[in-house]
Amino acid sequence: MRDIDALLASLPTELWIGGEQVPASEGRTFPVHNPATGDVLIEVADASAADGATALAAAADSQRTWAATPARERAEILRRAWELVNVCRDDFALLMTLEMGKPLAESYAEVTYGGEFLRWFSEEAVRVNGRYTRSPSGNGRILVSKQPVGPTLAITPWNFPLAMGTRKIAPALAAGCTMLVKPAAETPLTMLLLGQIFKEAGLPGGVLAVLPTSQPAALTEPLFADRRLRKVTFTGSTGVGKTLLTQAATRVLQSSMELGGNAPFVVFDDADLDAAVEGAMAAKMRNTGEACTAANRIYVDNSVLDEFTEKLTTRMQALKVGPGHLDGTQVGPLITEKQRTSVDDLVRDATAKGAFIMTGGAKQVGEGYFYEPTVLTNVPADARILREEVFGPVAAIRGFDGEDDAVAAANNTEFGLAAYIYTSDLGRALRVSEALECGMVGVNRGIISDVAAPFGGVKESGIGRESGSEGIEEYLEVKYTALP
Ligand code: NAD
Repeated sequence: MRDIDALLASLPTELWIGGEQVPASEGRTFPVHNPATGDVLIEVADASAADGATALAAAADSQRTWAATPARERAEILRRAWELVNVCRDDFALLMTLEMGKPLAESYAEVTYGGEFLRWFSEEAVRVNGRYTRSPSGNGRILVSKQPVGPTLAITPWNFPLAMGTRKIAPALAAGCTMLVKPAAETPLTMLLLGQIFKEAGLPGGVLAVLPTSQPAALTEPLFADRRLRKVTFTGSTGVGKTLLTQAATRVLQSSMELGGNAPFVVFDDADLDAAVEGAMAAKMRNTGEACTAANRIYVDNSVLDEFTEKLTTRMQALKVGPGHLDGTQVGPLITEKQRTSVDDLVRDATAKGAFIMTGGAKQVGEGYFYEPTVLTNVPADARILREEVFGPVAAIRGFDGEDDAVAAANNTEFGLAAYIYTSDLGRALRVSEALECGMVGVNRGIISDVAAPFGGVKESGIGRESGSEGIEEYLEVKYTALP
Protein backbone atom coordinates (compact mmCIF):
# COMPACT_ATOMS: atom_id res chain seq x y z
CA MET A 1 0.00 0.00 0.00
CA ARG A 2 1.11 3.58 -0.71
CA ASP A 3 2.75 5.26 2.29
CA ILE A 4 0.19 7.63 3.85
CA ASP A 5 2.62 10.39 4.83
CA ALA A 6 4.26 10.33 1.41
CA LEU A 7 0.86 10.55 -0.30
CA LEU A 8 -0.26 13.50 1.83
CA ALA A 9 3.07 15.29 1.30
CA SER A 10 2.67 14.98 -2.49
CA LEU A 11 -0.90 16.29 -2.64
CA PRO A 12 -2.02 19.55 -4.21
CA THR A 13 -3.68 21.50 -1.37
CA GLU A 14 -4.25 24.89 -2.98
CA LEU A 15 -7.13 26.00 -5.19
CA TRP A 16 -7.15 25.12 -8.89
CA ILE A 17 -7.89 28.35 -10.79
CA GLY A 18 -6.85 29.04 -14.38
CA GLY A 19 -5.11 25.66 -14.53
CA GLU A 20 -2.74 26.56 -11.69
CA GLN A 21 -2.53 25.91 -7.97
CA VAL A 22 -3.12 29.19 -6.17
CA PRO A 23 -3.44 29.96 -2.46
CA ALA A 24 -6.77 31.28 -1.20
CA SER A 25 -6.89 35.05 -1.71
CA GLU A 26 -7.34 35.67 1.99
CA GLY A 27 -4.62 33.14 2.85
CA ARG A 28 -7.02 31.02 4.89
CA THR A 29 -6.89 27.23 5.13
CA PHE A 30 -9.14 24.66 6.80
CA PRO A 31 -8.44 21.16 8.15
CA VAL A 32 -9.51 17.87 6.58
CA HIS A 33 -10.11 15.07 9.09
CA ASN A 34 -9.75 11.32 9.06
CA PRO A 35 -13.11 9.95 10.28
CA ALA A 36 -11.45 6.72 11.44
CA THR A 37 -9.51 8.66 14.10
CA GLY A 38 -10.90 12.19 14.19
CA ASP A 39 -7.34 13.46 13.56
CA VAL A 40 -6.46 16.22 11.12
CA LEU A 41 -4.98 14.79 7.90
CA ILE A 42 -3.92 18.01 6.23
CA GLU A 43 -4.90 21.67 5.72
CA VAL A 44 -6.26 22.88 2.37
CA ALA A 45 -6.84 26.34 0.91
CA ASP A 46 -10.19 27.86 1.88
CA ALA A 47 -11.82 29.59 -1.10
CA SER A 48 -13.63 32.87 -0.54
CA ALA A 49 -16.12 34.81 -2.65
CA ALA A 50 -13.16 36.65 -4.25
CA ASP A 51 -11.67 33.32 -5.37
CA GLY A 52 -15.04 32.29 -6.76
CA ALA A 53 -15.18 35.51 -8.77
CA THR A 54 -11.66 34.94 -10.16
CA ALA A 55 -12.53 31.37 -11.14
CA LEU A 56 -15.81 32.41 -12.77
CA ALA A 57 -14.05 35.14 -14.74
CA ALA A 58 -11.57 32.53 -16.04
CA ALA A 59 -14.40 30.12 -16.86
CA ALA A 60 -16.39 32.81 -18.68
CA ASP A 61 -13.28 33.90 -20.64
CA SER A 62 -12.57 30.31 -21.68
CA GLN A 63 -16.17 29.37 -22.51
CA ARG A 64 -16.25 30.45 -26.14
CA THR A 65 -12.89 28.87 -27.03
CA TRP A 66 -13.69 25.65 -25.20
CA ALA A 67 -17.09 25.35 -26.89
CA ALA A 68 -15.39 25.90 -30.26
CA THR A 69 -12.69 23.31 -29.57
CA PRO A 70 -13.39 20.29 -31.79
CA ALA A 71 -15.36 17.65 -29.92
CA ARG A 72 -12.67 15.13 -30.78
CA GLU A 73 -10.06 17.23 -28.95
CA ARG A 74 -12.27 17.61 -25.90
CA ALA A 75 -12.88 13.87 -26.01
CA GLU A 76 -9.15 13.10 -26.15
CA ILE A 77 -8.50 15.21 -23.05
CA LEU A 78 -11.23 13.35 -21.16
CA ARG A 79 -9.85 10.05 -22.36
CA ARG A 80 -6.35 11.00 -21.18
CA ALA A 81 -7.78 12.04 -17.82
CA TRP A 82 -9.41 8.60 -17.53
CA GLU A 83 -6.10 6.91 -18.29
CA LEU A 84 -4.28 9.09 -15.74
CA VAL A 85 -6.87 8.41 -13.03
CA ASN A 86 -6.15 4.73 -13.56
CA VAL A 87 -2.40 5.29 -13.44
CA CYS A 88 -2.99 6.94 -10.05
CA ARG A 89 -5.50 4.35 -8.81
CA ASP A 90 -3.60 3.65 -5.61
CA ASP A 91 -3.38 7.32 -4.66
CA PHE A 92 -7.05 8.02 -5.36
CA ALA A 93 -8.20 4.93 -3.47
CA LEU A 94 -6.14 5.58 -0.37
CA LEU A 95 -7.05 9.25 -0.38
CA MET A 96 -10.79 8.51 -0.46
CA THR A 97 -10.40 5.99 2.35
CA LEU A 98 -8.48 8.52 4.42
CA GLU A 99 -10.79 11.49 3.97
CA MET A 100 -14.13 9.69 3.72
CA GLY A 101 -13.56 6.45 5.63
CA LYS A 102 -14.81 3.81 3.19
CA PRO A 103 -12.97 0.46 3.07
CA LEU A 104 -10.11 0.40 0.59
CA ALA A 105 -11.81 -2.19 -1.64
CA GLU A 106 -14.78 0.17 -2.03
CA SER A 107 -12.46 3.07 -2.76
CA TYR A 108 -10.88 1.07 -5.58
CA ALA A 109 -14.38 0.31 -6.88
CA GLU A 110 -15.09 4.04 -6.86
CA VAL A 111 -11.88 4.80 -8.75
CA THR A 112 -13.14 2.46 -11.47
CA TYR A 113 -16.72 3.80 -11.37
CA GLY A 114 -15.74 7.46 -11.05
CA GLY A 115 -13.08 7.15 -13.74
CA GLU A 116 -15.54 5.51 -16.13
CA PHE A 117 -17.52 8.77 -16.46
CA LEU A 118 -14.44 10.33 -18.05
CA ARG A 119 -14.19 7.52 -20.59
CA TRP A 120 -17.94 7.31 -21.22
CA PHE A 121 -18.35 11.02 -21.87
CA SER A 122 -15.19 11.12 -23.98
CA GLU A 123 -17.17 8.75 -26.19
CA GLU A 124 -20.39 10.77 -25.96
CA ALA A 125 -18.66 14.08 -26.77
CA VAL A 126 -18.53 13.28 -30.49
CA ARG A 127 -22.15 12.15 -30.72
CA VAL A 128 -24.09 15.32 -29.95
CA ASN A 129 -26.74 15.43 -32.65
CA GLY A 130 -29.45 17.74 -33.88
CA ARG A 131 -32.16 17.32 -36.52
CA TYR A 132 -33.42 18.84 -39.71
CA THR A 133 -37.04 18.53 -40.86
CA ARG A 134 -39.62 20.17 -43.10
CA SER A 135 -42.44 22.04 -41.44
CA PRO A 136 -45.76 20.11 -41.76
CA SER A 137 -47.27 23.18 -43.45
CA GLY A 138 -44.61 23.01 -46.16
CA ASN A 139 -43.74 26.64 -45.44
CA GLY A 140 -40.28 26.22 -44.01
CA ARG A 141 -37.54 24.08 -42.68
CA ILE A 142 -36.63 23.36 -39.07
CA LEU A 143 -33.04 23.08 -37.93
CA VAL A 144 -32.54 21.90 -34.33
CA SER A 145 -29.05 22.09 -32.91
CA LYS A 146 -27.49 21.81 -29.47
CA GLN A 147 -25.11 24.21 -27.82
CA PRO A 148 -23.26 24.11 -24.50
CA VAL A 149 -25.18 25.76 -21.66
CA GLY A 150 -22.10 27.70 -20.56
CA PRO A 151 -20.16 28.19 -17.33
CA THR A 152 -21.53 25.81 -14.71
CA LEU A 153 -21.14 25.53 -10.95
CA ALA A 154 -20.97 21.98 -9.58
CA ILE A 155 -21.52 21.37 -5.87
CA THR A 156 -20.75 17.85 -4.70
CA PRO A 157 -21.22 15.75 -1.53
CA TRP A 158 -18.64 13.84 0.54
CA ASN A 159 -19.95 10.30 0.16
CA PHE A 160 -18.44 9.56 -3.28
CA PRO A 161 -15.61 12.10 -3.44
CA LEU A 162 -14.48 11.15 -6.97
CA ALA A 163 -17.57 9.83 -8.73
CA MET A 164 -19.95 12.64 -7.73
CA GLY A 165 -17.43 15.04 -9.27
CA THR A 166 -16.61 13.16 -12.48
CA ARG A 167 -20.32 12.42 -13.11
CA LYS A 168 -20.72 16.20 -13.56
CA ILE A 169 -17.31 17.31 -14.87
CA ALA A 170 -17.10 14.74 -17.67
CA PRO A 171 -20.44 15.51 -19.38
CA ALA A 172 -19.97 19.25 -18.88
CA LEU A 173 -16.55 19.26 -20.55
CA ALA A 174 -17.76 16.87 -23.24
CA ALA A 175 -20.64 19.22 -24.05
CA GLY A 176 -18.29 22.21 -24.24
CA CYS A 177 -19.09 23.84 -20.88
CA THR A 178 -16.55 25.27 -18.47
CA MET A 179 -17.01 24.36 -14.81
CA LEU A 180 -16.31 25.42 -11.25
CA VAL A 181 -16.38 22.55 -8.76
CA LYS A 182 -17.02 23.08 -5.08
CA PRO A 183 -16.34 19.76 -3.34
CA ALA A 184 -17.66 18.98 0.14
CA ALA A 185 -15.52 20.42 2.92
CA GLU A 186 -15.17 16.94 4.44
CA THR A 187 -13.55 15.47 1.29
CA PRO A 188 -11.79 18.06 -0.89
CA LEU A 189 -8.55 16.10 -1.40
CA THR A 190 -9.80 13.77 -4.12
CA MET A 191 -11.07 16.67 -6.27
CA LEU A 192 -7.81 18.59 -5.78
CA LEU A 193 -5.91 15.56 -7.07
CA LEU A 194 -8.32 15.33 -9.99
CA GLY A 195 -7.50 18.97 -10.79
CA GLN A 196 -3.89 17.94 -11.21
CA ILE A 197 -4.90 15.03 -13.45
CA PHE A 198 -6.76 17.42 -15.76
CA LYS A 199 -3.74 19.70 -15.94
CA GLU A 200 -1.57 16.73 -16.92
CA ALA A 201 -4.21 15.64 -19.43
CA GLY A 202 -3.82 18.99 -21.20
CA LEU A 203 -7.07 20.73 -20.22
CA PRO A 204 -6.78 24.46 -21.03
CA GLY A 205 -6.40 26.59 -17.89
CA GLY A 206 -9.71 28.36 -17.32
CA VAL A 207 -11.95 25.43 -18.22
CA LEU A 208 -12.04 23.80 -14.78
CA ALA A 209 -11.64 25.24 -11.29
CA VAL A 210 -11.66 23.33 -7.99
CA LEU A 211 -12.65 25.45 -5.01
CA PRO A 212 -12.75 23.79 -1.59
CA THR A 213 -14.23 26.01 1.10
CA SER A 214 -15.30 25.81 4.71
CA GLN A 215 -18.04 28.39 3.99
CA PRO A 216 -20.04 27.10 1.03
CA ALA A 217 -22.82 29.69 1.01
CA ALA A 218 -20.36 32.60 1.14
CA LEU A 219 -18.66 31.21 -1.97
CA THR A 220 -21.68 30.11 -3.97
CA GLU A 221 -24.28 32.83 -3.31
CA PRO A 222 -22.39 35.55 -5.21
CA LEU A 223 -21.80 33.05 -8.03
CA PHE A 224 -25.53 32.36 -8.30
CA ALA A 225 -26.11 36.10 -8.60
CA ASP A 226 -23.50 36.55 -11.36
CA ARG A 227 -24.96 36.66 -14.87
CA ARG A 228 -21.94 34.88 -16.32
CA LEU A 229 -22.93 31.69 -14.48
CA ARG A 230 -25.41 29.74 -16.62
CA LYS A 231 -26.10 26.60 -14.65
CA VAL A 232 -25.84 24.90 -11.28
CA THR A 233 -25.58 21.16 -10.84
CA PHE A 234 -25.88 19.92 -7.29
CA THR A 235 -25.63 16.57 -5.55
CA GLY A 236 -26.48 16.53 -1.87
CA SER A 237 -29.32 16.64 0.59
CA THR A 238 -32.84 17.64 -0.36
CA GLY A 239 -32.79 20.43 2.23
CA VAL A 240 -29.75 22.16 0.74
CA GLY A 241 -31.07 21.45 -2.76
CA LYS A 242 -34.26 23.39 -1.96
CA THR A 243 -32.22 26.35 -0.68
CA LEU A 244 -30.15 26.35 -3.87
CA LEU A 245 -33.23 26.09 -6.08
CA THR A 246 -34.66 29.15 -4.34
CA GLN A 247 -31.45 31.06 -5.06
CA ALA A 248 -31.41 29.78 -8.64
CA ALA A 249 -35.00 30.93 -9.14
CA THR A 250 -34.09 34.60 -8.83
CA ARG A 251 -32.09 34.31 -12.06
CA VAL A 252 -34.00 31.38 -13.59
CA LEU A 253 -30.64 29.62 -13.48
CA GLN A 254 -30.73 26.22 -15.14
CA SER A 255 -30.54 23.61 -12.37
CA SER A 256 -29.84 19.89 -12.13
CA MET A 257 -30.47 18.36 -8.72
CA GLU A 258 -29.41 14.92 -7.45
CA LEU A 259 -30.91 14.90 -3.97
CA GLY A 260 -31.67 12.60 -1.07
CA GLY A 261 -33.20 9.14 -1.27
CA ASN A 262 -35.21 6.81 0.93
CA ALA A 263 -35.04 3.60 -1.09
CA PRO A 264 -37.46 0.78 -0.34
CA PHE A 265 -36.13 -2.78 -0.68
CA VAL A 266 -39.09 -5.09 -1.25
CA VAL A 267 -38.80 -8.86 -0.81
CA PHE A 268 -41.79 -10.82 -2.12
CA ASP A 269 -42.78 -14.30 -0.96
CA ASP A 270 -41.58 -15.86 -4.25
CA ALA A 271 -38.07 -14.35 -4.01
CA ASP A 272 -34.87 -16.36 -3.81
CA LEU A 273 -34.22 -15.44 -0.17
CA ASP A 274 -30.47 -16.02 -0.22
CA ALA A 275 -30.15 -13.79 -3.27
CA ALA A 276 -32.37 -11.21 -1.57
CA VAL A 277 -30.17 -11.20 1.53
CA GLU A 278 -27.10 -10.82 -0.67
CA GLY A 279 -28.78 -7.94 -2.51
CA ALA A 280 -29.88 -6.31 0.75
CA MET A 281 -26.31 -6.45 2.08
CA ALA A 282 -25.06 -4.70 -1.05
CA ALA A 283 -27.88 -2.16 -1.21
CA LYS A 284 -27.69 -1.39 2.50
CA MET A 285 -24.01 -1.64 3.35
CA ARG A 286 -22.25 -0.27 0.27
CA ASN A 287 -20.33 2.81 1.40
CA THR A 288 -21.17 1.99 5.05
CA GLY A 289 -24.80 2.84 4.26
CA GLU A 290 -23.84 6.39 3.26
CA ALA A 291 -25.30 6.25 -0.25
CA CYS A 292 -28.29 8.08 -1.70
CA THR A 293 -29.35 4.76 -3.25
CA ALA A 294 -28.99 2.87 0.05
CA ALA A 295 -31.84 0.55 0.99
CA ASN A 296 -33.40 2.58 3.77
CA ARG A 297 -36.62 0.65 4.31
CA ILE A 298 -36.64 -3.11 3.94
CA TYR A 299 -40.17 -4.45 3.40
CA VAL A 300 -40.53 -8.24 3.53
CA ASP A 301 -43.62 -10.38 2.90
CA ASN A 302 -44.80 -11.60 6.30
CA SER A 303 -44.61 -15.25 5.17
CA VAL A 304 -40.81 -15.04 4.77
CA LEU A 305 -40.10 -12.23 7.23
CA ASP A 306 -38.55 -14.28 10.04
CA GLU A 307 -36.31 -16.32 7.74
CA PHE A 308 -35.08 -13.23 5.88
CA THR A 309 -34.44 -11.32 9.12
CA GLU A 310 -32.47 -14.19 10.62
CA LYS A 311 -30.28 -14.56 7.55
CA LEU A 312 -29.64 -10.84 7.24
CA THR A 313 -28.80 -10.58 10.94
CA THR A 314 -26.26 -13.40 10.65
CA ARG A 315 -24.60 -11.63 7.74
CA MET A 316 -24.54 -8.25 9.50
CA GLN A 317 -23.04 -9.77 12.66
CA ALA A 318 -20.16 -11.23 10.63
CA LEU A 319 -19.06 -7.87 9.19
CA LYS A 320 -15.65 -6.56 10.15
CA VAL A 321 -15.75 -2.91 11.24
CA GLY A 322 -12.56 -0.83 11.30
CA PRO A 323 -10.35 1.80 9.67
CA GLY A 324 -10.82 1.49 5.92
CA HIS A 325 -7.15 1.12 5.02
CA LEU A 326 -6.67 -2.02 7.14
CA ASP A 327 -6.88 -5.42 5.46
CA GLY A 328 -10.24 -7.14 5.72
CA THR A 329 -12.25 -4.09 6.81
CA GLN A 330 -15.79 -4.25 5.42
CA VAL A 331 -17.41 -1.37 7.27
CA GLY A 332 -15.69 1.96 7.85
CA PRO A 333 -16.51 4.90 10.12
CA LEU A 334 -19.29 7.39 9.45
CA ILE A 335 -18.18 10.74 8.11
CA THR A 336 -18.54 12.84 11.29
CA GLU A 337 -19.67 12.58 14.89
CA LYS A 338 -22.72 14.63 13.90
CA GLN A 339 -23.66 12.04 11.30
CA ARG A 340 -23.10 9.21 13.79
CA THR A 341 -25.34 10.90 16.34
CA SER A 342 -28.10 11.41 13.78
CA VAL A 343 -27.97 7.68 12.90
CA ASP A 344 -28.13 6.81 16.59
CA ASP A 345 -31.07 9.19 17.12
CA LEU A 346 -33.07 7.38 14.41
CA VAL A 347 -32.32 4.01 16.04
CA ARG A 348 -33.38 5.34 19.48
CA ASP A 349 -36.58 6.77 18.03
CA ALA A 350 -37.46 3.44 16.35
CA THR A 351 -36.83 1.38 19.48
CA ALA A 352 -38.77 3.82 21.65
CA LYS A 353 -41.72 3.26 19.30
CA GLY A 354 -41.48 -0.54 19.48
CA ALA A 355 -38.75 -1.76 17.07
CA PHE A 356 -36.50 -4.66 18.17
CA ILE A 357 -32.72 -4.59 17.83
CA MET A 358 -31.59 -7.91 16.31
CA THR A 359 -27.94 -6.86 16.31
CA GLY A 360 -25.90 -3.69 16.84
CA GLY A 361 -27.80 -0.55 17.79
CA ALA A 362 -25.04 1.60 19.28
CA LYS A 363 -22.01 3.76 18.61
CA GLN A 364 -18.82 1.71 18.76
CA VAL A 365 -16.63 2.57 21.74
CA GLY A 366 -13.17 4.03 20.98
CA GLU A 367 -11.71 6.54 18.54
CA GLY A 368 -13.33 7.38 15.22
CA TYR A 369 -16.99 7.64 14.22
CA PHE A 370 -17.85 3.93 13.98
CA TYR A 371 -21.39 2.62 14.32
CA GLU A 372 -22.27 -1.04 14.82
CA PRO A 373 -23.93 -2.77 11.85
CA THR A 374 -27.52 -2.85 13.00
CA VAL A 375 -30.69 -4.75 12.16
CA LEU A 376 -34.01 -3.44 13.43
CA THR A 377 -37.17 -5.44 12.99
CA ASN A 378 -40.84 -4.80 13.75
CA VAL A 379 -40.18 -1.15 12.84
CA PRO A 380 -43.45 0.76 13.29
CA ALA A 381 -44.83 2.80 10.41
CA ASP A 382 -44.45 6.05 12.35
CA ALA A 383 -40.74 5.56 13.11
CA ARG A 384 -38.62 8.42 11.75
CA ILE A 385 -36.19 5.90 10.22
CA LEU A 386 -38.85 4.93 7.65
CA ARG A 387 -39.30 8.56 6.62
CA GLU A 388 -35.80 10.06 6.89
CA GLU A 389 -32.57 9.03 5.18
CA VAL A 390 -30.55 7.11 7.79
CA PHE A 391 -27.17 7.32 5.97
CA GLY A 392 -25.57 4.64 8.11
CA PRO A 393 -25.22 0.86 8.60
CA VAL A 394 -28.74 0.33 9.90
CA ALA A 395 -31.25 -2.03 8.25
CA ALA A 396 -34.84 -1.27 9.23
CA ILE A 397 -37.21 -4.14 8.46
CA ARG A 398 -41.01 -4.18 8.35
CA GLY A 399 -43.42 -6.86 7.17
CA PHE A 400 -46.17 -6.51 4.54
CA ASP A 401 -49.09 -8.53 3.21
CA GLY A 402 -49.35 -8.73 -0.57
CA GLU A 403 -48.35 -6.61 -3.53
CA ASP A 404 -50.68 -3.66 -3.02
CA ASP A 405 -49.56 -3.27 0.58
CA ALA A 406 -45.90 -3.38 -0.51
CA VAL A 407 -46.32 -0.78 -3.26
CA ALA A 408 -48.29 1.56 -0.98
CA ALA A 409 -45.60 1.33 1.71
CA ALA A 410 -42.78 1.81 -0.81
CA ASN A 411 -44.39 4.90 -2.31
CA ASN A 412 -45.26 6.44 1.05
CA THR A 413 -42.41 8.97 0.97
CA GLU A 414 -41.64 12.36 -0.54
CA PHE A 415 -38.43 10.85 -1.97
CA GLY A 416 -38.21 8.93 -5.25
CA LEU A 417 -34.65 8.01 -6.14
CA ALA A 418 -34.08 4.24 -6.13
CA ALA A 419 -36.08 1.12 -5.23
CA TYR A 420 -35.27 -2.59 -5.17
CA ILE A 421 -37.55 -5.57 -5.63
CA TYR A 422 -36.84 -9.27 -5.24
CA THR A 423 -39.24 -11.70 -6.91
CA SER A 424 -39.03 -14.69 -9.25
CA ASP A 425 -42.14 -13.58 -11.18
CA LEU A 426 -41.25 -11.45 -14.22
CA GLY A 427 -44.81 -10.15 -14.55
CA ARG A 428 -44.79 -8.97 -10.95
CA ALA A 429 -41.33 -7.41 -11.38
CA LEU A 430 -42.55 -5.31 -14.31
CA ARG A 431 -45.90 -4.45 -12.71
CA VAL A 432 -44.34 -3.32 -9.43
CA SER A 433 -41.51 -1.52 -11.19
CA GLU A 434 -44.07 0.52 -13.13
CA ALA A 435 -46.05 1.28 -9.95
CA LEU A 436 -43.05 2.49 -7.97
CA GLU A 437 -42.65 6.27 -7.85
CA CYS A 438 -38.90 6.53 -8.34
CA GLY A 439 -36.24 7.14 -10.99
CA MET A 440 -34.45 3.79 -10.75
CA VAL A 441 -35.51 0.23 -9.91
CA GLY A 442 -33.25 -2.74 -9.25
CA VAL A 443 -34.90 -6.10 -9.99
CA ASN A 444 -33.11 -8.92 -8.18
CA ARG A 445 -30.07 -6.64 -7.97
CA GLY A 446 -28.66 -4.74 -5.00
CA ILE A 447 -26.34 -2.46 -6.99
CA ILE A 448 -27.79 -0.44 -9.84
CA SER A 449 -25.34 2.38 -10.63
CA ASP A 450 -23.97 2.07 -14.14
CA VAL A 451 -22.10 4.63 -16.19
CA ALA A 452 -24.29 3.82 -19.20
CA ALA A 453 -27.63 4.20 -17.36
CA PRO A 454 -29.52 7.40 -16.50
CA PHE A 455 -29.13 8.11 -12.78
CA GLY A 456 -31.60 10.35 -10.99
CA GLY A 457 -34.81 10.66 -9.07
CA VAL A 458 -38.40 11.90 -9.11
CA LYS A 459 -40.41 13.76 -6.44
CA GLU A 460 -38.10 15.44 -3.91
CA SER A 461 -35.13 13.31 -5.00
CA GLY A 462 -34.23 15.63 -7.80
CA ILE A 463 -34.45 17.12 -11.25
CA GLY A 464 -32.55 15.76 -14.24
CA ARG A 465 -30.39 12.72 -14.93
CA GLU A 466 -26.68 12.03 -14.79
CA SER A 467 -24.63 9.46 -16.75
CA GLY A 468 -26.03 7.37 -19.61
CA SER A 469 -26.66 9.08 -22.91
CA GLU A 470 -29.05 11.39 -21.03
CA GLY A 471 -26.24 12.84 -18.89
CA ILE A 472 -24.74 15.11 -21.53
CA GLU A 473 -28.13 16.64 -22.35
CA GLU A 474 -28.09 18.42 -18.96
CA TYR A 475 -25.24 20.56 -20.31
CA LEU A 476 -26.76 21.30 -23.72
CA GLU A 477 -29.35 23.87 -24.76
CA VAL A 478 -31.62 23.21 -27.71
CA LYS A 479 -31.63 25.86 -30.41
CA TYR A 480 -34.24 26.03 -33.17
CA THR A 481 -33.30 27.86 -36.34
CA ALA A 482 -36.17 28.59 -38.74
CA LEU A 483 -35.17 28.31 -42.39
CA PRO A 484 -37.10 29.23 -45.52
P1 NAD B 1 -25.24 18.36 1.90
O1 NAD B 1 -26.48 18.78 1.23
O2 NAD B 1 -25.06 18.69 3.32
O3 NAD B 1 -23.97 18.97 1.17
C1 NAD B 1 -23.75 18.77 -0.22
C2 NAD B 1 -22.86 19.87 -0.74
O4 NAD B 1 -23.54 21.12 -0.60
C3 NAD B 1 -21.54 20.02 0.00
O5 NAD B 1 -20.54 20.37 -0.93
C4 NAD B 1 -21.81 21.19 0.94
O6 NAD B 1 -20.65 21.89 1.30
C5 NAD B 1 -22.70 22.05 0.06
N1 NAD B 1 -23.55 22.99 0.77
C6 NAD B 1 -24.18 22.83 1.96
N2 NAD B 1 -24.90 23.93 2.25
C7 NAD B 1 -24.73 24.80 1.23
C8 NAD B 1 -25.22 26.11 0.95
N3 NAD B 1 -26.05 26.75 1.78
N4 NAD B 1 -24.84 26.71 -0.20
C9 NAD B 1 -24.02 26.09 -1.06
N5 NAD B 1 -23.53 24.85 -0.85
C10 NAD B 1 -23.88 24.21 0.28
O7 NAD B 1 -25.13 16.81 1.62
P2 NAD B 1 -24.00 15.80 2.10
O8 NAD B 1 -24.19 15.55 3.56
O9 NAD B 1 -22.66 16.26 1.64
O10 NAD B 1 -24.36 14.50 1.25
C11 NAD B 1 -25.34 13.61 1.63
C12 NAD B 1 -26.62 13.86 0.87
O11 NAD B 1 -26.37 13.80 -0.53
C13 NAD B 1 -27.66 12.80 1.13
O12 NAD B 1 -28.92 13.38 1.29
C14 NAD B 1 -27.61 11.94 -0.12
O13 NAD B 1 -28.79 11.25 -0.39
C15 NAD B 1 -27.31 12.97 -1.15
N6 NAD B 1 -26.74 12.34 -2.34
C16 NAD B 1 -27.52 12.26 -3.46
C17 NAD B 1 -27.02 11.63 -4.59
C18 NAD B 1 -27.86 11.53 -5.84
O14 NAD B 1 -27.30 11.28 -6.89
N7 NAD B 1 -29.17 11.74 -5.79
C19 NAD B 1 -25.73 11.10 -4.59
C20 NAD B 1 -24.97 11.20 -3.44
C21 NAD B 1 -25.49 11.84 -2.32
